[in-house]
Formats: sequence, structure tokens, C-alpha cells
Amino acid sequence: MTDLSQIALTRDIGIMAHVDAGKTTTTERILFYTGITHRMGEVDEGSTQTDWMVDEQERGITIVSATVTCAWKGHRINLIDTPGHVDFTVEVERSLRVLDGAVAVFDAAAGVEPQSETVWRQADRYKVPRIAFINKFDKVGAKLEITIDSLRSRLGAHPILVQLPIGAEQSFEGVVDLLEMQVLHFEGEHGEQVRATPLTEESDPELYEAAKDARAQMIEALGEVDDEIMEMYLGEAGIDISAEVLRPALRRATIANKGVPVLCGTSLRNKGVQPLLDAVIAYLPSPLDLPPVAAELEDGTIVERHPDPSEPFLALAFKVINDAHRGALVLFRVYSGTLKLKEPLWNSTRARKEKVHRLLHLHAIKANEIDTVSVGDIAAAVGLKFTGTGDTLVLASDKDKAVLAGMQIPEPVIFRSIEPKTAAEQKDLDEALARLQREDPSFKVRQDLESGQNLVCGQGELHLEIVISRLKREFRLEPHVGKPQVNYRETIERTLRHEFIYDREVGGKRQYARLVLEVEPAERGSGNVFEAALPKRDDGQPSLPAPYVAAAREGITDSFTRGVLIGYPLEDVRVRLVDAHYEEDASSESSFRAAAAMALNEALERANPRLLEPVMAVEIVTPEDFTGTVVSDLTGTRRGRVLGMDAAPGARSVQVVRAEVPLAAMVGYATALRSATQGRASYTMHFSHNAEVGRDLQASIVTQLRGY
Ligand code: GDP
Repeated sequence: MTDLSQIALTRDIGIMAHVDAGKTTTTERILFYTGITHRMGEVDEGSTQTDWMVDEQERGITIVSATVTCAWKGHRINLIDTPGHVDFTVEVERSLRVLDGAVAVFDAAAGVEPQSETVWRQADRYKVPRIAFINKFDKVGAKLEITIDSLRSRLGAHPILVQLPIGAEQSFEGVVDLLEMQVLHFEGEHGEQVRATPLTEESDPELYEAAKDARAQMIEALGEVDDEIMEMYLGEAGIDISAEVLRPALRRATIANKGVPVLCGTSLRNKGVQPLLDAVIAYLPSPLDLPPVAAELEDGTIVERHPDPSEPFLALAFKVINDAHRGALVLFRVYSGTLKLKEPLWNSTRARKEKVHRLLHLHAIKANEIDTVSVGDIAAAVGLKFTGTGDTLVLASDKDKAVLAGMQIPEPVIFRSIEPKTAAEQKDLDEALARLQREDPSFKVRQDLESGQNLVCGQGELHLEIVISRLKREFRLEPHVGKPQVNYRETIERTLRHEFIYDREVGGKRQYARLVLEVEPAERGSGNVFEAALPKRDDGQPSLPAPYVAAAREGITDSFTRGVLIGYPLEDVRVRLVDAHYEEDASSESSFRAAAAMALNEALERANPRLLEPVMAVEIVTPEDFTGTVVSDLTGTRRGRVLGMDAAPGARSVQVVRAEVPLAAMVGYATALRSATQGRASYTMHFSHNAEVGRDLQASIVTQLRGY
């Protein structure tokens, strides 16, 4: 797919919905009508094509739920899975970055539910154009106004209703297409035949009147965000503006995020899905409609890459799927340029060469081998050895090794110890953890230096819980895991000089070293530093032989990894070796190494050691009525500092609260926020900085963690 007209026919989209709104059923119907599947599954029978993640993972085929390619009226639609949870900015960002547009599915009887509110706001943040599908019109209590009103008031969206439902609940029979003024009925066993009949005053006077009103409202709503349409509407055309004029105007409004076309139907009863597909290709952007992406070159210059197949190749690996039979499959999206199979790749995030053995387009139950990928393509690569989620891929032959901007991975802030159930499981556990790290770059495994235990480290409590449940579900491993612990650091408060004399018998031989250290708190975030600043002897010779200085440096930098309070790594401490003395017969490298470590520990004890804790930047979106409760909880029990409050863009009576809160005080926040706000508020957080813990609190944490 290298020519522009082909790319213009591509749609990379996601379907987002509240649990149970009908995302699976709708996806499954899309696959049926686009000819991907030939048997219509029912969610309730457990036979649908896309909801088989859990089962299929066990059999080694997981690709389906990640992305599916299908064809509709000469277009290619890539359906990309969006994460069901929104707690990890990293994962949400990765998946929203590869979508150009989305279909938001709502339940006609429930309207906007809390979880859809959260997902919608994430999509707002990343400016993803959307169309809305009000599903379940056959359900008791289904009503157009429920969703339309809440789209406006709760989401601050500008809905533009382009269809009128005919009947409701049991008598729901189809929709009026307001652009064409046609009645659409869905016939055949699975609603596969769409019968369109013109709606006229003669054919159905009552429905015609209602549709005329709805058409006027549609044009008015579109006119509010499109001057050309407003002028025509106020001018001679009135409500008789043709579909050929309205359609491109709706597309402009959708792509500019100024309006949301709204459609209705019932996926379960096979009504309204084909017009939804028509709307996807009519209103959602193609890769060519996107602004260029920013990428950083090795020397720090920022360049723009345009959606153009002749520009340098640039792609983002957005998902890694471990498949027992095929090895790792890396799903990637191409932003610019073209890649031919067998062309060597360069992973510019990790600075490593990569080779693709096979390129695939993924369909629901099969994969098609392809030999070229270009702008807008979503494809899977087999053969990549090092590439993980979030990595940038370019051509090895490119002189500019660009990395997509804004893909930094935050440092983990919380950890839990992890141990296999039996020694025999150690190898499996190590392998499973290595795979999970490749899939999720914000998850890390490291070793506790003191206990030798393995630690799993992540972005929050929930993050690690998901990792642990995946170990169980996908790898059949149930390791022992410790309690979640905050990743504290230790530092000092005072500047001082400390002399230390090491003089003892070791194995019948005298060992001697004398050191004078100066320790000093460094600026927050500057890291630890060791300097040797020894005076010269009178004869111009160094006062300490170089190997002894090196040994002292080793002793000190080793000790940087363990503070004296609890044993967390040190941070922002400057140590200077300002004086030293040795004796020809009794000094050695090992005596200087040991002396330096002990000298530093003593110096730290005297320099008012302080505990540093990770502080999170938290953003909470809450209905105005709950702002008071949310803020007082943050500033009271949670030791938080509110930085600001703004009205959410567009939405009435919704506030965005920005705050800094210590991570330790955010334990259990998801649940607490939900119950305090009837599930209507949502939050995101990421690491901001380390800050000193108050003295009293420090004393109690130290007592608790030292166990006395
Ligand atoms: P998801 O959680 O968003 O993926 O939703 P599902 O597609 O799994 O649907 C949740 C439930 O709603 C299932 O029991 C479906 O059969 C049902 N459902 C889906 N679409 C409709 C619909 O149009 N009408 C009715 N009445 N039920 C539906």
C-alpha cells in the first residue's frame, strides 16, 4: 500500500465503551458484515471472535483481540483494541497514539456511564475524533435523550444526531438517515440486507414531520461549528442542504474535534451496524488527515515526519504479544515512509539492529502475509528480537535515527518482593517476568541488594496487581508476593567533616587506613557525587597512592546503594575525600575500601539522615458537586497539595483538580474516590519528584520498616 489514494482509504480506529455497553457484540457484527467471519456468534454463548483473549492466550493465539483488519466499501478498517482500564498513563497513551479515530458505544437505556466518562476524557486529551453509537435501542427504557443530554452535560461534547430511531424498545425497527431522508430497515436472517426507502410526506406523514425537525436540528448543530453550513442554513437552502454538502462538513467537524456525529441501533438485533461502518469511513480521518508527528534525532534536533510513503520510515511498536508457537509478535503502526520485507530495521529506542522475518496483516482468525507496509498500516512483525512496547522503528539504512517524541517511561514508584512457590519454578518465573517486561516498559524487575530477593516494580498498586494476575492466568504461576512498598530514598540534611581511623587485626595482620570525608546535601534531583580532593604532600607527591583512592571510591559508591535509615538507596549526597593517611606496612586496597564504607556510614548517621518519598502529580476529573469532598480528602488525610482547579474543557459543572500527593497516601485511592463520588470522578497520576518526609512521619516509618 504505497500510493496515496490507498492510504486515503484506510481507517485506524478503536471502539471504546463502558463494560456491557456492547463493544464485543458490535465488533463481532462488524466482522460479520465485512465478511471476516461467517458465523454470527453471540456473546452470551461465548462464541464471538474477539472476546476470546483469556482462552486463546492459553492456546497461543492472542492476536485477535489486539487488532483486526477488515474491509468495507473499498476501504480498509483496522480495529485496534483499547485498554479496558485507564490507570496507567503509559498504556493508555500507547494505544491512543495509534488510533486516528474512535467509535464510542453507549447503552441507550443508561447513557454516559462513569467509565465511559473516563475513557472519553482520555480521548479528549489526545484529541481523538469520535462518532457515537447509541446501542441497545431494543431495550426497555431506551431513549435518545438519555445519551444525547449526557453527552452534552457530562462530557462537554457537541453531539450532532444524524439518524432518527424508528420506534423504541420492542417496536424499534430501524432508523431514518437524516442526510438522505431515507428509511433504513435491516432484513434477512442477520440483518445483512439494508433496505433503503425514501421518506416522503406521502409515505409516512408523521415520521416525515419528525425527521424534518430532526434534520433542521442536525443542520443547526453542524452550523454552530461550521460557518459555511450556517450561511447556507440561514440563506436560501434552509434545511434542504444536500447530503453531498453535509457529509464533508460533518467530516471536517469530526476531524477538528468540534462535533460528534451520533447514530443509533441495536447490535444484538442486527440493526444499525452497516450505517455505523458507513459513518466510520465518511467521518473519521484517514492517516493522511493527521498532523505530522514529532521525532527526535540523536543530536537532540526535533524533526517532523509527515504521513507520506516517500518520507523516511518511522513506526511505533505499540504491543508485543508472546505467542508460544510463533515467538513474539510485534504490532506496529507506520507514521511515515515505507518498509519492505527483509529490509534491515533499526530500533532507535534501544539502538539495536532488528530483522523482520515475516510481515502480517491480522484478520480475525487468520493472518495474511504481506511484503510492504506503509503510512497508516497496522501490521505484525515476526522475528524482532529486542523490540518492546513503545519502541520506535526506523530503517537501518537511514542516516537519521529518529525516536518518536514523548515516549519517556516513568520510573517505578512501588515494588513488591516476588518469590517462586518452589525452587523448580524459578526459571519459569524469570522467563515470564522477562516477557512481561518486554510487553510493558513501565514494569521492571530488579534485585534487592541486601536480601537478594527479586522485586517487581511498577507505576502503582493496581499495575502490580495486574502483573500478578497475568502470571497466574497466562503463565500458571502463583509466586509468593510481598506487600506493596513505596520506593523510598534516603538523603542527608547537614554538611559536615568526619574523620575515621581504621586500625585492626585481620587474620593476624594489622590493617590500617585513615580517612577524612566531607558530606554535603546536594540539590534535589542532582544525584550522588564522589570527589577525591586530597592535598598534595610537601614533596609534590599525592598524599594517597592512586589504587587506594580508587578503593576508597569503590567503598563509597557501593554504600550509595544503601542508606543508614532503612537501607534505601541514597539520593543527592555529595561526598568529598579531603584527607587521608596510610602506612606502608599496614595499609592495603581492601583496608581503604572497608574504611571508606564505614566512614561514610558514620558520617551519614551524624548528618541528619532524611527519608525521601515519591510524590505523584495527580489529576482528578470530578463533577462540581464533589469538588469539596475530593479536595478536603486530598489535603487532609492524604497530605496532598492542590496546585489548581479548572473547569473541564467544554463540560458543564465538571472540574479538573491538579494536585501533588505522596504516593504512600494514594494507597486505595481508586476505591475511595469511587465511593466518595458515586463512581463519577476519575483520576490519573504519574511520578513527579522525591520529597522529604516530615520528621514525625519519618520516625514512624523507620520504626515500622526496621521492625522495632
Ligand atoms: P461489552 O462489555 O461492551 O463488550 O458488551 P457485550 O457486547 O459483551 O454486551 C454485553 C451484554 O449486552 C450482552 O449480554 C449482550 O448480549 C447485550 N447486548 C449487546 N448489544 C445489545 C443490544 O443491542 N440490545 C440488547 N438488548 N442487548 C445487547
